[in-house]
Amino acid sequence: MKIAKIEPYVIVHKLDTPFYFSQWQYDTRKICIVKVILEDGTYGWGEGYGPAGVIKAGIEFFTPFLLGRDALGHEVLWQEMYRRSLDYARSGSLQAAVSAIDVALWDIKGKLLDQPVSVLLGGVKNPVIEPYATGLYFTRVDNLEELLVEEALLYKSQGFKATKMKVGLGIKEDIKYVAAIRKAIGPEMRLMIDSNHAYSYKEALELSRKVEKYDISWFEEPVSPEDYDGYRRLRENTTIPIAGGECEYLKFGFKRLFENDCVDIAQPDICATGGLTEAKRIATLAQAYNKDVIPHSWGTWIAISAAVHFVGNLDKNPGRMYNDLPTMELDRTENALRDEVTKSEIVVKNGLLNVPNTPGLGVDVDIDALEKYREIDEAKIEFRL
Ligand code: MG
Repeated sequence: MKIAKIEPYVIVHKLDTPFYFSQWQYDTRKICIVKVILEDGTYGWGEGYGPAGVIKAGIEFFTPFLLGRDALGHEVLWQEMYRRSLDYARSGSLQAAVSAIDVALWDIKGKLLDQPVSVLLGGVKNPVIEPYATGLYFTRVDNLEELLVEEALLYKSQGFKATKMKVGLGIKEDIKYVAAIRKAIGPEMRLMIDSNHAYSYKEALELSRKVEKYDISWFEEPVSPEDYDGYRRLRENTTIPIAGGECEYLKFGFKRLFENDCVDIAQPDICATGGLTEAKRIATLAQAYNKDVIPHSWGTWIAISAAVHFVGNLDKNPGRMYNDLPTMELDRTENALRDEVTKSEIVVKNGLLNVPNTPGLGVDVDIDALEKYREIDEAKIEFRL
């Protein structure tokens, strides 16, 4: 079945309540999604994680090489896109464009073969997933500690068994918020921290040592993604498991992370690291290095659904008969693009979700909402006029 059309869209929403983390403030959510359409009208949706305009340009770059090609040969097309990008962009947002197209092709494959993506990935090992709530960002208020505690308690009341909070404001301030949240949620709920690479090795070590007593399930992106040595030394010197990988691309990026023994938990973002095709290979590589995989996810229900099918198929390292339910990231922050533009069958209830068993990803787009939030390219309109 041949590819007839590839339509990338940039969708934008100005947030009601801007929030920030260690690197910058979010005032707006801006996401690139893509619709790949076949000759018979069958279509699939994909999404790229990263600067939306750059990803859209990347999709437009790959489009001429994909039109008229067989959609079921998605791995062949992946190799083609990889080869076309190798000389210029071995990592970065062009790979997010590859990812977006790849995810859409998996959605199409599921629809054509009448199977959910998780089955096509090799079967559903985990029909039920226990996602963790991502939130606990910072807002510019006087009572931040109070608001963070309230938010953490909201996740607890919704049944989430784990939540991840931001750190990276400075060690003293971080400890204050970690202590307050742990005290509020009690000892049972798992708590993770994420600095988004805010710290040097020595700072990250100091923070780790000082928050070890709060039972932190992992410290995510403690140091710069370029600082492989810092990652390794930190991992050797703290009892807190170390997580990272949302800034790595393709199996080659993760190979560096694993060879340098940087992490306990690898966090590929399916919509950036090379799509479901490459994420599956990264999971295999992780198994060879005895590392666990818990994907990073930040976007619409298209991205979340891709992660759900991936985790549905994922094996735990090491395996055992009685394991905890697998987890994955579930962003709970304000996102109209996720909630209005995309429609999913996935229901999150009592902190659990089921892997959908409908064909493809089990996600669709509300065309009216797409038009409402779509970024109009002024230059192109002028040109058309
Ligand atoms: Mg993170």
